[in-house]
Amino acid sequence: MKDKKLFDEIKEAVSSLPIFDTHEHLMHEEERRQNELDVFYLFSHYAASDLVSSGMQENEYSMLFDREISIEKRWKIFSRHLENIKNTSYTKTILEAVKDLFGIDDINETTYEQLSGKLENTKSMNWYDYVLNEGSNIKFMVNFIENMPGINNQKPLNRKDSIAVKNFEDIISVCCMEDIFKFEEKYGVNIYCLKDYLDLIDSIVEESADQGYKVLKIVIAYFRTIRFDETSFSDADAVFTKLFKLKDYGFFEKIDFLSKDELKPLQDYLVHYLIKKAIEKSWPVQIHTGLLNGNRGDVSNTNPCFLINLFLKYKKCRFDIFHAGFPYSSELITIAKQFPNVYFDFCWIQQVSFALYGEILNLAIETIPSNKIFAFGGDNFIVECTYGSQKKARKIISDVLYKKITENYFSFDEAVKFAEKILYHNPVEVYLY
Ligand SMILES: [Zn+2]
Repeated sequence: MKDKKLFDEIKEAVSSLPIFDTHEHLMHEEERRQNELDVFYLFSHYAASDLVSSGMQENEYSMLFDREISIEKRWKIFSRHLENIKNTSYTKTILEAVKDLFGIDDINETTYEQLSGKLENTKSMNWYDYVLNEGSNIKFMVNFIENMPGINNQKPLNRKDSIAVKNFEDIISVCCMEDIFKFEEKYGVNIYCLKDYLDLIDSIVEESADQGYKVLKIVIAYFRTIRFDETSFSDADAVFTKLFKLKDYGFFEKIDFLSKDELKPLQDYLVHYLIKKAIEKSWPVQIHTGLLNGNRGDVSNTNPCFLINLFLKYKKCRFDIFHAGFPYSSELITIAKQFPNVYFDFCWIQQVSFALYGEILNLAIETIPSNKIFAFGGDNFIVECTYGSQKKARKIISDVLYKKITENYFSFDEAVKFAEKILYHNPVEVYLY
């Protein structure tokens, strides 16, 4: 039988804890204000991939954001697909936010216009402060917007609670002369060899540190395997030199570029180089592993086991490994249990599946030292989803801890202390040094 009093007490305790949010993609609030905000905006990030996976055609999806088409007509297109994704945790997270932030219990035929109006009204408020700080009790967030498609102003947010993330994906994935020209122009340098390219990286790192960036993010799992082999300078240099022999076919608007396989030794070398730079700057390194957002991604590239050579070699680096490694969570649990320099990060998982988050947390409690677990990263472009995410994550954490107390695994005080660590103190230790 459920101990209602205990259940309420643990829920109450967890609901008021401060959060250190390890991962977001929130655009500047000013830029959000320039966008059209309506019901479809709420479905333009994670839920979009469920819409596509459920069978929505790409042209139908683009129509949702075409203001030339009446909202009634767009709702008609949207509503039959919404029906198919109302069961997923992505949609449930949106509904949770809509209920609390706008007082609307469901998104349907009778509420979508009212909800769209309320979303528009948020533009006249300090909505981020309200949602993130007052509503979610988020004290700090690590925000990654550099090289993110769909975000125009990629400079760090001017918010006291935001920690800026540096990303070098554009530099790592150089594959043609056009890329080299682009960097020469952007940074005002000449690049004739790999040494010049590394010098450019050095100067970007220095400049970024001065601008207040404090974290390195590696998100290359979206494009290739995360196995970064040990590569010599001369092997990487040989690939880089090939770039200068690539042809440009002028008015045919075609250019030559190197294949993924040809580029791998260069990319591997650059990733190792960047990790060494991060160590010099005391930047924690966040790495995407596991599930890929969007559709048709190759998850077989993203097993955290591929990173073990990095964990072995770079003992001084603090690796924050993302998304619970899912579907390779057992692998990541095993790694985090063994390696002092590897942290197990649940970011995004609360939205992928509530049950999954609970199951993995239950396992993590019994396997990984408590200081190594980061329980929350919203991982959202849409600030309302961060609200929904933290609300759901707190509920799941409470449910798991309630179970652990009733099984006499934890005392009440131990459970609350554990929640404080995973939601706040652990990432503070790593990111605010
Ligand atoms: Zn992310």
